[in-house]
Amino acid sequence: MDKYDAIVIGSGISGGWAAKELCDNGLKTLVLERGRDIKHIKDYPTATLHPWEFKHRGRMPKSFTDENPITTKAWLFDESSYHFFIEDKDHPYVQKKPFDWIRGYQVGGRSLTWGRASQRWSDHEFKAPSRFGYGIEWPVGYNDIAPWYEHVEKFAGVCGAKDGIESMPDGNYLPPYELNCVEKHMQKTISKHYHDRKMIPGRWAHLSEPEEIHLKQGRSKCQSRNLCVRGCPLGGYFSSVASTLPWADKTGNLTLRPFSVVHSIIYDEKTGKASGIKVIDTNSHEEMEFHAKIIFVNASALNTNLILLNSKSKRFPNGLGNDNGILGKYICFQNYRPSAWASIEGFDDKYVNGKKPTGPIIPNFKNFKEKNTEFNGGYITFSGAIRPKRNVIPEDEPQLGVGFKHKLSEPGDWIVYMYMQGETVPKETNRVYLSKNKKDPWGIPQLVTDISYDDNDEKMINDFHKEAKEMMEKMGCTNINLVDNKQNPGIDIHEMGGVRMGKDPENSLLNEFNQLHLCKNVFVTDGACMTSTGNQSPSILYMALTARAANYAADQLKKGKL
Ligand SMILES: Cc1cc2nc3c(=O)[nH]c(=O)nc-3n(C[C@H](O)[C@H](O)[C@H](O)COP(=O)(O)OP(=O)(O)OC[C@H]3O[C@@H](n4cnc5c(N)ncnc54)[C@H](O)[C@@H]3O)c2cc1C
Repeated sequence: MDKYDAIVIGSGISGGWAAKELCDNGLKTLVLERGRDIKHIKDYPTATLHPWEFKHRGRMPKSFTDENPITTKAWLFDESSYHFFIEDKDHPYVQKKPFDWIRGYQVGGRSLTWGRASQRWSDHEFKAPSRFGYGIEWPVGYNDIAPWYEHVEKFAGVCGAKDGIESMPDGNYLPPYELNCVEKHMQKTISKHYHDRKMIPGRWAHLSEPEEIHLKQGRSKCQSRNLCVRGCPLGGYFSSVASTLPWADKTGNLTLRPFSVVHSIIYDEKTGKASGIKVIDTNSHEEMEFHAKIIFVNASALNTNLILLNSKSKRFPNGLGNDNGILGKYICFQNYRPSAWASIEGFDDKYVNGKKPTGPIIPNFKNFKEKNTEFNGGYITFSGAIRPKRNVIPEDEPQLGVGFKHKLSEPGDWIVYMYMQGETVPKETNRVYLSKNKKDPWGIPQLVTDISYDDNDEKMINDFHKEAKEMMEKMGCTNINLVDNKQNPGIDIHEMGGVRMGKDPENSLLNEFNQLHLCKNVFVTDGACMTSTGNQSPSILYMALTARAANYAADQLKKGKL
């Protein structure tokens, strides 16, 4: 069968949601995924392994790291999770400036390995770029998205408290995880000394107390194993593989085609619409076409840019919908460079009872409502306290013997940490485009990344260090260590933009329902659609935008308007 009501490109976080909503609306939906199939539980080969069952005790051999210098830098990449990340050599791209592009090419995409932090944007984040003059106006605001946040949070399961903080609105949350004793001390200190900030329990896509809708998906309570990146056999955290895709499958409306790399979208000059997709089977290298009434592009931000740039026709010689020439431009990311680490005394007789999969957050308190710094944008601070065993044995002491073994059974010192997740400013000069002469193994032009930090990012880093140091001092911390890891853009894994939403077709590509202004039956709802980055973790917003756009598309289709 090559004709469907809808085609979804990509089966990761946003593609999974598109599939679920379109199938729930009765649309025969084809999901095209370049990677292999992954089935919940069956395809989590490391999920229940003990440390000693790994050939290299959790680390990858040097030969692998040497061959894969980018992917092995990824947070949470190790011997237990490497099969959910790509190998660099198989998927080349051109870095005009250093950019670490972290990818997971399989059914489920990076929903299998994501960190699961899931806060809502405030209305201010939608408004700030145009208000303070560092971006264009979003065509939607918080009130447009709030019902869809509600919709996706309920189904995915997000834990958190009702904290009543304007810069991070409350959602439809399952019970939060309790802060540990040091975190409670940190929380109290912050509330005592500051009126503009609070420390709150993390908002994470975990089933702290599953509800009926989660049990119906076949998922169960998170057991705080903290081995999420291996794939959770309990479905304790949200992934497309555990949640949206099996749900879509049960409707009988889903066809999932793995090993199908999308080359381009086919544009029909007569109808002024996209008529289908050109695909290359990654095993046979056979070229084929699939047709549908509507197309959702959810290949992850940069791959979505690549597909649209490569969708050339007589009408659109520079890429689908790209009359204004901004496709691939205004790429942005989030700034994760700075952190602060310190010791804290007075809690040595206390320990934690088990693990927890979340960490506390200090919501943004910079440039909120008023611009009160010399940089643009805001940041949130992930923060907390841990008591790692590895801290017990200084490196210059013997690492074997009886004394060593005894020390291993003792908890280490408490460590307080803070790290930043900062907004970056969308700029025309941060862009991706197609290489003129380099192709990937399927004959598709390679993507060139031309993306870097700027002075605004440096100023934000300095400000974070100043604030973190002051807060830690008030908490009574010692040995405060301020770090700037100078990591490349990309490794934050929150890349966005290039196909941004906007009110004006002159300076944007997508309208308020994520439709291409110039090709209305093509919807882009992954990170490529982002007009600005905000300071929250972005994926829950991709989910909400996708669910909203998919229901709109289904409705328009039923009314014969698409
Ligand atoms: C270690 C880690 C931690 C993270 N932590 C967080 C967090 O705490 N909070 C948060 O909000 N986000 C987090 N993220 C980011 C999050 O994973 C992404 O924002 C999210 O997965 C993006 O969803 P997506 O659907 O756009 O892309 P993906 O989930 O990457 O899925 C894209 C899919 O499209 C497929 N595809 C690509 N190109 C093609 C093509 N040409 N043809 C067919 N298929 C194609 C891919 O194989 C993939 O399956 C984290 C990511 C990682 C890796």
